[in-house]
Amino acid sequence: MDLGDKLSILASSAKYDASCASSGSGRSGAFGANLPAGVCHSWTGDGRCVSLLKVLYSNACRFDCAYCVNRVSADTPRTAFTVDDLVDLTCQFYRRNYVEGLFLSSGIFTDPDMVMEKLIAVAKRLRTEAGFGGYIHLKVIPGAGEKLIREAGLWADRLSANIELPTDKSLQTLAPQKSGKVIFGAMDDVSRCGAENEEDRRKIRSTPVFAPAGQSTQLIVGASEEDDRTIIGLSGALYRKYSMRRVYYSAFIPVGVDGRGGIPDPRLPAIPGPPLVREHRLYQADWLMRFYHFSAAEILEETPYLDRHVDPKTAWALRHIDRFPIDLQWADYEELLRVPGIGATSARRILEIRRLRSLSFDGLRRLGVVLKRARYFITLGGAFIDKPEDPKRIRRMLSDQDGAGLQLPLFDF
Ligand code: SF4
Repeated sequence: MDLGDKLSILASSAKYDASCASSGSGRSGAFGANLPAGVCHSWTGDGRCVSLLKVLYSNACRFDCAYCVNRVSADTPRTAFTVDDLVDLTCQFYRRNYVEGLFLSSGIFTDPDMVMEKLIAVAKRLRTEAGFGGYIHLKVIPGAGEKLIREAGLWADRLSANIELPTDKSLQTLAPQKSGKVIFGAMDDVSRCGAENEEDRRKIRSTPVFAPAGQSTQLIVGASEEDDRTIIGLSGALYRKYSMRRVYYSAFIPVGVDGRGGIPDPRLPAIPGPPLVREHRLYQADWLMRFYHFSAAEILEETPYLDRHVDPKTAWALRHIDRFPIDLQWADYEELLRVPGIGATSARRILEIRRLRSLSFDGLRRLGVVLKRARYFITLGGAFIDKPEDPKRIRRMLSDQDGAGLQLPLFDF
């Protein structure tokens, strides 16, 4: 098989991994669209668009995860790159400015250590022999030894081990060869190696940095029965316990939808399409935990699922309408963060400007406050834009039909 054919198969096999911020295929509304020949676009935390060569080393896999196009029981052409193939391909794409980095994963075609060694060999050759200075994201193969994970982090910018399903019960049903304990063990290894590396670097500044972009993981949404509360609770624990930089949520794409081929697996739900609104609300809830100091328990206090029609911050404010209005002239940073329509940046700007002069409603727009949302929850020196109303009416005013037209959060990668 020539390199072009391999690239086409192994890029297509990699496209359902969202943990480089390109969720699913090129469906509209996805967070990044896969371009032909393995080039996928991702967004950095500051909104910059970057392109990555996103491929598998091999799509042969011994495991039979029901949701995966590469599972052993799938009737799909199998192939693998060699280390030379991938080093050459990455360097060629990089030199021609097609990509700024490499996202490399693999099916588990043999013992986890041996698969991990192949991924490490690609990254190491790129760094040491090819002088590659671009971004490298390597998948950690659960079950690979800590020594290999330690080495992977020396060549890669980011490492990720996908948890995929939120509970052991779902893993047993849909991915019976996987074990939550082994996957958490891999995350723990990455987190511990990172912490030890920081310690070493405090003593000796020249110590090479271990995975400077940290670790991430992916959760599939809608392939198993867990509710949003379980998913967000797990994400909160992952951020706390393993210093996770990002949890990516990937709406389950059923067979026959969005160009996804294969035979439907009876273990999977027969849903008409990927639950994209749910995926989006989970990203918003995740955003609240990472940047707005919400706990998982606060986000889902009463119901097991996030509100489809209003974003989770507005939903929280409406449940706690007695805490509003908040006067922007006097509120502290934490109070400002709780106001729908006020982000972390606009909250900081409000505090800065307030020290110099008094705020005005017109000025708030220039500070980035979305008055369309904030107006029901704020006062300025005691004055309202809109007197607080019945929460049901505010909810109607602020609801977006099934998430249509939502502003997607920015990604780092
Ligand atoms: S381990 Fe499971 S999810 Fe990963 S490639 Fe194999 S079948 Fe797919």
